[in-house]
Amino acid sequence: MPQATPKLNAFPVFLRVEGEAVAIIGGGEQALAKARLIGQSSAALRIVADAPEAELLSFIITTGATHIAAAYDAVHLEGAVMVFAASGNEALDRRVAEDARRLGIPVNAVDRPELCDFFTPALVNRAPVAIAIGTEGAGPVLAQMLRGRIDRMLSPSLGPLAALAASFRGAAEKLLPKGNARRRFWSDFFGGAPARAMEAGEPAQAHDAAVDLLASNAPVSGHIALVGAGPGAEDLLTLRAHRLLMEADFIVHDALVPEAIVAMGRRDAERLPVGKRKGCHTKSQAEINALLIELGRDGKRVVRLKSGDPLVFGRAGEEMAALRDAGIAYEVVPGVTAAFAAAADFELPLTLRGVSSSMVFTTGHDLKGNSLPDWAKLAISGATVAVYMGRSVAAEVAGRLIEAGLSPDTAVAVVENASLANRRRFHGTLADLPSLEARADLSGPVMTIIGDAVAGANFERSEPLAAHRHEGAAQAAAEGVEQ
Ligand code: SAH
Repeated sequence: MPQATPKLNAFPVFLRVEGEAVAIIGGGEQALAKARLIGQSSAALRIVADAPEAELLSFIITTGATHIAAAYDAVHLEGAVMVFAASGNEALDRRVAEDARRLGIPVNAVDRPELCDFFTPALVNRAPVAIAIGTEGAGPVLAQMLRGRIDRMLSPSLGPLAALAASFRGAAEKLLPKGNARRRFWSDFFGGAPARAMEAGEPAQAHDAAVDLLASNAPVSGHIALVGAGPGAEDLLTLRAHRLLMEADFIVHDALVPEAIVAMGRRDAERLPVGKRKGCHTKSQAEINALLIELGRDGKRVVRLKSGDPLVFGRAGEEMAALRDAGIAYEVVPGVTAAFAAAADFELPLTLRGVSSSMVFTTGHDLKGNSLPDWAKLAISGATVAVYMGRSVAAEVAGRLIEAGLSPDTAVAVVENASLANRRRFHGTLADLPSLEARADLSGPVMTIIGDAVAGANFERSEPLAAHRHEGAAQAAAEGVEQ
Protein backbone atom coordinates (compact mmCIF):
# COMPACT_ATOMS: atom_id res chain seq x y z
CA MET A 1 0.00 0.00 0.00
CA PRO A 2 1.38 3.43 -0.82
CA GLN A 3 2.06 5.43 2.28
CA ALA A 4 0.17 8.69 2.69
CA THR A 5 2.51 11.69 2.75
CA PRO A 6 2.62 13.03 6.32
CA LYS A 7 0.90 16.37 6.77
CA LEU A 8 2.78 19.60 7.42
CA ASN A 9 1.76 21.44 10.54
CA ALA A 10 3.41 24.64 9.37
CA PHE A 11 2.76 25.64 5.79
CA PRO A 12 5.33 27.78 3.97
CA VAL A 13 4.13 31.00 2.39
CA PHE A 14 5.91 34.14 1.19
CA LEU A 15 4.73 37.22 3.02
CA ARG A 16 4.92 40.62 1.32
CA VAL A 17 7.10 42.80 3.54
CA GLU A 18 8.40 45.51 1.21
CA GLY A 19 8.42 48.74 3.27
CA GLU A 20 6.39 47.09 6.07
CA ALA A 21 7.43 47.32 9.72
CA VAL A 22 8.80 44.16 11.34
CA ALA A 23 9.33 44.52 15.12
CA ILE A 24 12.10 42.67 16.95
CA ILE A 25 12.06 42.84 20.73
CA GLY A 26 15.44 42.14 22.37
CA GLY A 27 18.98 43.45 22.54
CA GLY A 28 21.13 40.32 22.43
CA GLU A 29 22.30 37.57 20.13
CA GLN A 30 18.84 36.16 19.37
CA ALA A 31 17.56 39.58 18.32
CA LEU A 32 20.65 40.07 16.13
CA ALA A 33 20.10 36.70 14.39
CA LYS A 34 16.49 37.63 13.55
CA ALA A 35 17.53 41.13 12.50
CA ARG A 36 20.07 39.64 10.09
CA LEU A 37 17.50 37.24 8.69
CA ILE A 38 14.80 39.88 8.14
CA GLY A 39 17.51 42.29 6.99
CA GLN A 40 17.71 40.20 3.78
CA SER A 41 14.31 41.58 2.87
CA SER A 42 13.15 45.10 2.12
CA ALA A 43 11.05 45.25 5.30
CA ALA A 44 11.51 48.25 7.61
CA LEU A 45 13.13 46.83 10.74
CA ARG A 46 12.07 48.20 14.12
CA ILE A 47 14.32 47.03 16.96
CA VAL A 48 13.11 47.55 20.52
CA ALA A 49 16.09 47.34 22.91
CA ASP A 50 16.84 49.62 25.84
CA ALA A 51 20.35 48.22 26.14
CA PRO A 52 21.45 46.63 22.83
CA GLU A 53 24.69 44.69 22.76
CA ALA A 54 27.52 46.21 20.74
CA GLU A 55 27.07 43.98 17.68
CA LEU A 56 23.34 44.67 17.44
CA LEU A 57 23.99 48.36 17.86
CA SER A 58 26.45 48.37 15.00
CA PHE A 59 23.93 46.40 12.86
CA ILE A 60 21.33 49.09 13.63
CA ILE A 61 23.74 51.85 12.69
CA THR A 62 24.99 50.26 9.46
CA THR A 63 21.57 49.19 8.18
CA GLY A 64 19.66 52.26 9.27
CA ALA A 65 17.06 50.16 11.08
CA THR A 66 14.71 52.01 13.44
CA HIS A 67 15.93 51.72 17.03
CA ILE A 68 13.54 52.21 19.94
CA ALA A 69 15.88 52.61 22.90
CA ALA A 70 13.29 52.12 25.60
CA ALA A 71 11.88 49.43 27.83
CA TYR A 72 9.39 47.31 25.83
CA ASP A 73 5.81 48.52 25.63
CA ALA A 74 2.92 47.05 23.59
CA VAL A 75 2.71 50.31 21.68
CA HIS A 76 6.04 49.39 20.00
CA LEU A 77 4.26 46.62 18.07
CA GLU A 78 1.67 48.80 16.45
CA GLY A 79 1.54 48.74 12.65
CA ALA A 80 4.01 45.84 12.39
CA VAL A 81 3.26 42.90 10.04
CA MET A 82 5.45 40.48 12.04
CA VAL A 83 6.77 40.44 15.57
CA PHE A 84 9.80 38.63 16.96
CA ALA A 85 9.96 38.08 20.71
CA ALA A 86 13.75 37.64 20.97
CA SER A 87 14.64 39.08 24.37
CA GLY A 88 15.89 35.79 25.84
CA ASN A 89 13.68 36.53 28.83
CA GLU A 90 10.80 34.05 29.02
CA ALA A 91 8.37 36.34 30.87
CA LEU A 92 9.04 39.25 28.54
CA ASP A 93 8.79 37.10 25.38
CA ARG A 94 5.49 35.71 26.64
CA ARG A 95 4.18 39.25 27.20
CA VAL A 96 5.28 40.29 23.71
CA ALA A 97 3.60 37.24 22.18
CA GLU A 98 0.35 37.94 24.01
CA ASP A 99 0.37 41.62 23.01
CA ALA A 100 1.06 40.72 19.38
CA ARG A 101 -1.74 38.18 19.33
CA ARG A 102 -4.12 40.72 20.86
CA LEU A 103 -3.16 43.18 18.10
CA GLY A 104 -3.66 40.49 15.45
CA ILE A 105 0.03 40.42 14.42
CA PRO A 106 1.70 37.05 13.77
CA VAL A 107 4.47 36.46 16.28
CA ASN A 108 7.58 34.29 16.54
CA ALA A 109 9.15 33.73 19.95
CA VAL A 110 12.71 32.49 19.71
CA ASP A 111 13.16 28.94 21.03
CA ARG A 112 9.57 28.82 22.33
CA PRO A 113 7.60 27.01 19.65
CA GLU A 114 4.50 26.94 21.83
CA LEU A 115 4.33 30.78 21.63
CA CYS A 116 4.91 30.90 17.85
CA ASP A 117 2.36 31.66 15.13
CA PHE A 118 5.06 31.04 12.52
CA PHE A 119 8.58 29.69 12.22
CA THR A 120 11.42 31.28 10.32
CA PRO A 121 13.08 29.21 7.65
CA ALA A 122 16.69 28.58 6.81
CA LEU A 123 16.98 30.75 3.73
CA VAL A 124 18.79 30.46 0.43
CA ASN A 125 18.54 33.94 -0.97
CA ARG A 126 18.86 34.58 -4.68
CA ALA A 127 16.43 37.49 -4.70
CA PRO A 128 13.92 37.53 -6.24
CA VAL A 129 14.26 33.76 -5.89
CA ALA A 130 14.08 32.46 -2.32
CA ILE A 131 14.31 28.91 -1.05
CA ALA A 132 12.99 28.55 2.47
CA ILE A 133 13.72 25.41 4.45
CA GLY A 134 11.59 24.58 7.44
CA THR A 135 11.59 21.65 9.83
CA GLU A 136 8.86 22.83 12.21
CA GLY A 137 11.60 23.25 14.76
CA ALA A 138 12.55 19.57 14.58
CA GLY A 139 16.08 20.08 13.35
CA PRO A 140 17.65 23.50 12.99
CA VAL A 141 20.96 21.78 12.23
CA LEU A 142 19.34 19.71 9.49
CA ALA A 143 17.86 22.89 8.03
CA GLN A 144 21.29 24.55 7.98
CA MET A 145 22.84 21.49 6.30
CA LEU A 146 20.22 21.48 3.59
CA ARG A 147 20.63 25.19 3.18
CA GLY A 148 24.36 24.75 2.59
CA ARG A 149 23.82 22.01 0.03
CA ILE A 150 21.19 23.94 -1.93
CA ASP A 151 23.25 27.09 -1.77
CA ARG A 152 26.18 25.31 -3.44
CA MET A 153 23.90 23.90 -6.10
CA LEU A 154 22.49 27.22 -7.24
CA SER A 155 24.44 29.71 -9.27
CA PRO A 156 24.72 33.21 -7.82
CA SER A 157 23.45 34.39 -11.24
CA LEU A 158 20.06 32.86 -10.53
CA GLY A 159 18.85 36.08 -8.88
CA PRO A 160 19.75 38.45 -11.72
CA LEU A 161 18.41 35.88 -14.19
CA ALA A 162 15.08 35.77 -12.38
CA ALA A 163 15.01 39.57 -12.26
CA LEU A 164 15.64 39.64 -16.02
CA ALA A 165 12.81 37.13 -16.46
CA ALA A 166 10.47 39.40 -14.52
CA SER A 167 11.30 42.25 -16.88
CA PHE A 168 10.41 40.03 -19.89
CA ARG A 169 7.17 38.67 -18.48
CA GLY A 170 4.94 41.36 -20.00
CA ALA A 171 6.49 41.09 -23.45
CA ALA A 172 6.31 37.30 -23.42
CA GLU A 173 2.64 37.40 -22.49
CA LYS A 174 1.92 39.86 -25.24
CA LEU A 175 3.89 38.22 -28.02
CA LEU A 176 3.64 34.52 -27.32
CA PRO A 177 0.43 32.55 -27.33
CA LYS A 178 -0.34 30.81 -24.06
CA GLY A 179 0.71 27.19 -23.90
CA ASN A 180 3.57 25.53 -25.77
CA ALA A 181 5.14 28.60 -27.35
CA ARG A 182 5.33 30.43 -24.03
CA ARG A 183 6.56 27.39 -22.12
CA ARG A 184 9.24 26.77 -24.71
CA PHE A 185 10.40 30.38 -24.45
CA TRP A 186 10.75 30.19 -20.68
CA SER A 187 12.50 26.87 -20.66
CA ASP A 188 15.00 28.19 -23.25
CA PHE A 189 15.30 31.37 -21.23
CA PHE A 190 16.26 29.61 -17.99
CA GLY A 191 18.19 26.80 -19.64
CA GLY A 192 19.66 28.43 -22.75
CA ALA A 193 21.61 31.44 -23.96
CA PRO A 194 20.24 34.07 -21.52
CA ALA A 195 21.07 31.83 -18.53
CA ARG A 196 24.55 31.08 -19.87
CA ALA A 197 25.31 34.75 -20.47
CA MET A 198 24.15 35.67 -16.97
CA GLU A 199 26.23 32.85 -15.51
CA ALA A 200 29.22 34.28 -17.35
CA GLY A 201 28.56 37.63 -15.69
CA GLU A 202 27.33 39.33 -18.88
CA PRO A 203 23.91 40.79 -18.03
CA ALA A 204 23.74 42.95 -21.19
CA GLN A 205 24.42 39.91 -23.35
CA ALA A 206 21.81 37.95 -21.41
CA HIS A 207 19.29 40.67 -22.16
CA ASP A 208 20.09 40.59 -25.88
CA ALA A 209 19.87 36.80 -25.93
CA ALA A 210 16.42 37.01 -24.33
CA VAL A 211 15.30 39.53 -26.96
CA ASP A 212 16.49 37.19 -29.74
CA LEU A 213 14.78 34.26 -28.11
CA LEU A 214 11.53 36.16 -27.87
CA ALA A 215 11.73 37.15 -31.54
CA SER A 216 12.48 33.60 -32.67
CA ASN A 217 9.59 32.17 -30.65
CA ALA A 218 7.05 34.81 -31.60
CA PRO A 219 4.73 33.46 -34.26
CA VAL A 220 5.07 35.41 -37.46
CA SER A 221 1.67 36.90 -37.96
CA GLY A 222 0.40 37.22 -41.48
CA HIS A 223 -2.00 39.86 -42.59
CA ILE A 224 -4.44 39.92 -45.46
CA ALA A 225 -5.70 43.19 -46.91
CA LEU A 226 -8.83 42.90 -49.05
CA VAL A 227 -8.13 45.82 -51.32
CA GLY A 228 -10.34 47.53 -53.84
CA ALA A 229 -8.37 48.27 -57.00
CA GLY A 230 -11.03 50.58 -58.40
CA PRO A 231 -12.59 50.27 -61.85
CA GLY A 232 -9.34 50.04 -63.76
CA ALA A 233 -7.71 53.48 -64.08
CA GLU A 234 -4.43 53.46 -62.15
CA ASP A 235 -5.02 56.88 -60.63
CA LEU A 236 -8.32 55.77 -59.15
CA LEU A 237 -6.43 53.50 -56.78
CA THR A 238 -6.50 54.85 -53.22
CA LEU A 239 -3.28 55.93 -51.52
CA ARG A 240 -3.87 53.25 -48.90
CA ALA A 241 -4.24 50.57 -51.53
CA HIS A 242 -1.00 51.76 -53.11
CA ARG A 243 0.88 51.70 -49.78
CA LEU A 244 -0.29 48.14 -49.06
CA LEU A 245 0.69 47.05 -52.57
CA MET A 246 4.17 48.45 -51.91
CA GLU A 247 4.43 46.48 -48.66
CA ALA A 248 3.02 43.20 -49.93
CA ASP A 249 4.80 39.85 -50.08
CA PHE A 250 1.97 38.44 -52.20
CA ILE A 251 -0.57 40.04 -54.50
CA VAL A 252 -3.50 37.73 -55.12
CA HIS A 253 -5.56 39.34 -57.85
CA ASP A 254 -8.69 38.82 -59.89
CA ALA A 255 -8.57 38.75 -63.65
CA LEU A 256 -10.55 41.99 -63.91
CA VAL A 257 -7.76 43.99 -62.24
CA PRO A 258 -5.68 45.47 -65.07
CA GLU A 259 -2.07 44.40 -65.36
CA ALA A 260 -0.93 48.02 -64.93
CA ILE A 261 -2.39 48.10 -61.41
CA VAL A 262 -0.99 44.71 -60.43
CA ALA A 263 2.36 46.02 -61.64
CA MET A 264 2.15 48.94 -59.19
CA GLY A 265 2.97 46.59 -56.27
CA ARG A 266 6.38 45.97 -54.74
CA ARG A 267 8.74 44.66 -57.37
CA ASP A 268 9.66 41.57 -55.34
CA ALA A 269 6.07 40.71 -54.43
CA GLU A 270 4.85 37.43 -55.79
CA ARG A 271 1.79 37.84 -58.01
CA LEU A 272 -0.89 35.16 -58.08
CA PRO A 273 -3.77 35.53 -60.54
CA VAL A 274 -6.78 33.62 -59.23
CA GLY A 275 -9.36 34.19 -61.95
CA LYS A 276 -12.08 34.74 -62.44
CA ARG A 277 -13.34 35.54 -65.84
CA LYS A 278 -16.64 34.23 -66.91
CA GLY A 279 -16.16 30.71 -68.15
CA CYS A 280 -12.54 30.33 -67.06
CA HIS A 281 -12.27 30.16 -63.29
CA THR A 282 -8.67 29.43 -62.51
CA LYS A 283 -9.39 28.74 -58.82
CA SER A 284 -12.56 27.95 -56.94
CA GLN A 285 -13.61 30.25 -54.11
CA ALA A 286 -12.76 27.49 -51.62
CA GLU A 287 -9.28 27.23 -53.13
CA ILE A 288 -8.82 31.00 -52.89
CA ASN A 289 -9.92 30.97 -49.23
CA ALA A 290 -7.48 28.13 -48.51
CA LEU A 291 -4.68 29.98 -50.30
CA LEU A 292 -5.25 33.17 -48.27
CA ILE A 293 -5.29 31.19 -45.02
CA GLU A 294 -2.12 29.36 -45.94
CA LEU A 295 -0.29 32.61 -46.81
CA GLY A 296 -1.55 34.20 -43.57
CA ARG A 297 -0.33 31.25 -41.51
CA ASP A 298 3.04 31.55 -43.22
CA GLY A 299 3.26 35.08 -41.88
CA LYS A 300 2.94 36.74 -45.28
CA ARG A 301 1.64 40.22 -45.95
CA VAL A 302 -0.95 39.66 -48.62
CA VAL A 303 -2.93 42.06 -50.77
CA ARG A 304 -6.06 40.39 -52.06
CA LEU A 305 -6.73 42.72 -54.95
CA LYS A 306 -10.27 42.92 -56.30
CA SER A 307 -11.72 45.14 -58.96
CA GLY A 308 -13.84 48.09 -57.87
CA ASP A 309 -14.79 47.85 -54.21
CA PRO A 310 -14.02 44.54 -52.50
CA LEU A 311 -17.37 44.47 -50.71
CA VAL A 312 -19.47 44.85 -53.85
CA PHE A 313 -19.97 41.56 -55.72
CA GLY A 314 -16.45 40.60 -54.75
CA ARG A 315 -17.09 37.48 -52.62
CA ALA A 316 -15.30 39.28 -49.82
CA GLY A 317 -17.91 37.99 -47.39
CA GLU A 318 -16.74 34.41 -47.84
CA GLU A 319 -13.07 35.33 -47.68
CA MET A 320 -13.53 37.37 -44.51
CA ALA A 321 -15.50 34.58 -42.84
CA ALA A 322 -12.78 32.05 -43.72
CA LEU A 323 -10.04 34.34 -42.41
CA ARG A 324 -11.97 35.03 -39.22
CA ASP A 325 -12.48 31.31 -38.64
CA ALA A 326 -8.80 30.69 -39.19
CA GLY A 327 -7.87 33.51 -36.80
CA ILE A 328 -5.94 35.44 -39.45
CA ALA A 329 -5.79 39.21 -39.24
CA TYR A 330 -7.26 41.13 -42.14
CA GLU A 331 -8.47 44.55 -43.12
CA VAL A 332 -10.63 45.94 -45.90
CA VAL A 333 -9.62 48.84 -48.11
CA PRO A 334 -12.50 50.31 -50.10
CA GLY A 335 -12.23 51.07 -53.78
CA VAL A 336 -14.19 52.98 -56.40
CA THR A 337 -16.92 50.61 -57.48
CA ALA A 338 -17.77 50.19 -61.17
CA ALA A 339 -21.17 51.89 -60.81
CA PHE A 340 -19.50 55.09 -59.61
CA ALA A 341 -16.90 55.01 -62.35
CA ALA A 342 -19.57 54.41 -64.99
CA ALA A 343 -21.74 57.21 -63.63
CA ALA A 344 -18.73 59.56 -63.66
CA ASP A 345 -17.94 58.64 -67.26
CA PHE A 346 -21.49 59.56 -68.18
CA GLU A 347 -21.73 62.60 -65.89
CA LEU A 348 -24.76 60.74 -64.68
CA PRO A 349 -26.31 61.80 -61.35
CA LEU A 350 -27.08 58.59 -59.49
CA THR A 351 -29.41 60.52 -57.24
CA LEU A 352 -31.32 63.44 -58.68
CA ARG A 353 -33.39 65.86 -56.71
CA GLY A 354 -37.08 65.23 -57.32
CA VAL A 355 -36.35 62.26 -59.62
CA SER A 356 -34.39 59.58 -57.77
CA SER A 357 -33.38 59.47 -54.15
CA SER A 358 -32.26 55.86 -53.81
CA MET A 359 -29.97 53.55 -55.66
CA VAL A 360 -29.59 49.83 -56.09
CA PHE A 361 -26.43 47.82 -56.78
CA THR A 362 -27.64 44.59 -58.24
CA THR A 363 -26.79 41.79 -60.58
CA GLY A 364 -28.90 40.41 -63.37
CA HIS A 365 -28.03 36.90 -62.31
CA ASP A 366 -30.68 36.68 -59.63
CA LEU A 367 -33.52 37.09 -62.12
CA LYS A 368 -34.43 33.44 -62.01
CA GLY A 369 -37.83 31.89 -61.36
CA ASN A 370 -41.16 33.62 -61.33
CA SER A 371 -40.89 36.01 -58.43
CA LEU A 372 -39.55 39.44 -59.15
CA PRO A 373 -36.47 40.25 -57.04
CA ASP A 374 -36.82 43.08 -54.55
CA TRP A 375 -34.61 45.39 -56.53
CA ALA A 376 -37.06 45.33 -59.44
CA LYS A 377 -39.72 46.76 -57.14
CA LEU A 378 -37.29 49.48 -56.15
CA ALA A 379 -36.64 50.27 -59.81
CA ILE A 380 -40.36 50.68 -60.35
CA SER A 381 -40.58 53.04 -57.41
CA GLY A 382 -37.90 55.28 -58.90
CA ALA A 383 -34.51 54.02 -57.70
CA THR A 384 -31.49 54.26 -59.99
CA VAL A 385 -30.37 50.69 -60.66
CA ALA A 386 -26.75 49.71 -61.36
CA VAL A 387 -26.56 46.22 -62.84
CA TYR A 388 -23.25 44.35 -62.35
CA MET A 389 -22.47 41.36 -64.55
CA GLY A 390 -25.57 42.22 -66.51
CA ARG A 391 -24.46 41.88 -70.12
CA SER A 392 -25.32 38.26 -70.79
CA VAL A 393 -28.70 38.63 -69.07
CA ALA A 394 -29.60 42.05 -70.50
CA ALA A 395 -32.70 40.77 -72.32
CA GLU A 396 -33.95 38.99 -69.23
CA VAL A 397 -33.45 42.11 -67.08
CA ALA A 398 -35.25 44.35 -69.56
CA GLY A 399 -38.06 41.87 -70.19
CA ARG A 400 -38.79 41.30 -66.52
CA LEU A 401 -38.73 45.01 -65.66
CA ILE A 402 -41.07 45.94 -68.50
CA GLU A 403 -43.35 43.06 -67.62
CA ALA A 404 -43.45 44.29 -64.04
CA GLY A 405 -44.57 47.74 -65.13
CA LEU A 406 -41.44 49.82 -65.71
CA SER A 407 -41.82 51.94 -68.82
CA PRO A 408 -39.93 50.64 -71.92
CA ASP A 409 -38.88 54.29 -72.37
CA THR A 410 -36.94 54.35 -69.12
CA ALA A 411 -33.43 55.68 -69.78
CA VAL A 412 -30.50 53.25 -69.82
CA ALA A 413 -26.77 54.00 -69.87
CA VAL A 414 -24.14 51.35 -70.53
CA VAL A 415 -20.38 51.73 -70.09
CA GLU A 416 -17.80 49.23 -71.17
CA ASN A 417 -14.38 49.57 -69.50
CA ALA A 418 -15.49 52.45 -67.27
CA SER A 419 -12.66 54.82 -66.26
CA LEU A 420 -10.26 53.41 -68.85
CA ALA A 421 -9.02 55.13 -71.99
CA ASN A 422 -10.73 52.56 -74.21
CA ARG A 423 -14.10 52.96 -72.54
CA ARG A 424 -17.26 52.94 -74.64
CA ARG A 425 -20.55 54.53 -73.71
CA PHE A 426 -23.99 53.62 -74.99
CA HIS A 427 -27.34 55.11 -74.28
CA GLY A 428 -30.87 54.10 -75.02
CA THR A 429 -34.03 52.88 -73.35
CA LEU A 430 -35.08 49.77 -71.53
CA ALA A 431 -36.54 48.56 -74.82
CA ASP A 432 -33.06 48.77 -76.38
CA LEU A 433 -31.29 46.94 -73.56
CA PRO A 434 -31.66 43.36 -74.95
CA SER A 435 -29.44 44.33 -77.89
CA LEU A 436 -26.50 44.39 -75.47
CA GLU A 437 -26.40 40.62 -75.39
CA ALA A 438 -25.81 40.41 -79.09
CA ARG A 439 -22.87 42.79 -79.26
CA ALA A 440 -19.78 40.81 -80.14
CA ASP A 441 -17.71 43.99 -80.14
CA LEU A 442 -17.79 44.38 -76.33
CA SER A 443 -15.04 42.39 -74.69
CA GLY A 444 -14.49 44.39 -71.50
CA PRO A 445 -16.59 44.55 -68.33
CA VAL A 446 -19.92 46.28 -68.78
CA MET A 447 -21.95 48.36 -66.33
CA THR A 448 -25.62 49.07 -66.98
CA ILE A 449 -27.45 51.88 -65.23
CA ILE A 450 -31.24 52.08 -65.46
CA GLY A 451 -33.62 54.74 -64.19
CA ASP A 452 -35.13 58.17 -64.73
CA ALA A 453 -32.03 59.84 -63.27
CA VAL A 454 -30.10 58.46 -66.27
CA ALA A 455 -31.93 61.01 -68.43
CA GLY A 456 -29.80 63.64 -66.65
CA ALA A 457 -26.56 62.13 -68.10
CA ASN A 458 -24.39 63.65 -70.82
CA PHE A 459 -24.91 61.61 -74.00
CA GLU A 460 -22.61 63.72 -76.20
CA ARG A 461 -19.93 61.10 -76.53
CA SER A 462 -22.09 58.01 -76.41
CA GLU A 463 -23.42 55.76 -79.11
CA PRO A 464 -27.04 54.67 -79.39
CA LEU A 465 -27.64 51.24 -77.94
CA ALA A 466 -30.27 50.28 -80.47
CA ALA A 467 -27.92 50.43 -83.47
CA HIS A 468 -26.87 46.85 -82.89
CA ARG A 469 -30.27 45.49 -82.05
CA HIS A 470 -30.18 42.88 -84.82
CA GLU A 471 -26.56 41.69 -84.58
CA GLY A 472 -25.53 38.06 -84.31
CA ALA A 473 -25.59 35.68 -81.41
CA ALA A 474 -24.44 36.63 -77.96
CA GLN A 475 -20.93 35.67 -77.17
CA ALA A 476 -19.57 35.02 -73.72
CA ALA A 477 -17.26 37.87 -72.95
CA ALA A 478 -15.39 39.15 -70.01
CA GLU A 479 -18.05 39.54 -67.41
CA GLY A 480 -15.94 39.32 -64.31
CA VAL A 481 -16.92 37.70 -61.08
CA GLU A 482 -19.96 35.50 -60.93
CA GLN A 483 -21.98 36.14 -57.82
N1 SAH B 1 -16.20 44.59 -56.99
C1 SAH B 1 -16.44 45.11 -58.30
C2 SAH B 1 -17.50 44.34 -59.05
C3 SAH B 1 -17.12 42.96 -59.42
S1 SAH B 1 -18.35 42.14 -60.36
C4 SAH B 1 -16.82 46.58 -58.17
O1 SAH B 1 -17.07 47.05 -57.08
O2 SAH B 1 -16.85 47.25 -59.19
C5 SAH B 1 -17.75 42.37 -61.96
C6 SAH B 1 -18.66 43.30 -62.68
O3 SAH B 1 -18.35 44.62 -62.34
C7 SAH B 1 -18.51 43.28 -64.19
O4 SAH B 1 -19.27 42.24 -64.77
C8 SAH B 1 -19.05 44.63 -64.56
O5 SAH B 1 -20.46 44.61 -64.54
C9 SAH B 1 -18.59 45.48 -63.42
N2 SAH B 1 -17.33 46.19 -63.71
C10 SAH B 1 -16.14 46.06 -63.13
N3 SAH B 1 -15.24 46.92 -63.63
C11 SAH B 1 -15.87 47.60 -64.59
C12 SAH B 1 -15.49 48.62 -65.50
N4 SAH B 1 -14.26 49.13 -65.53
N5 SAH B 1 -16.43 49.08 -66.35
C13 SAH B 1 -17.67 48.61 -66.35
N6 SAH B 1 -18.08 47.66 -65.52
C14 SAH B 1 -17.20 47.15 -64.66
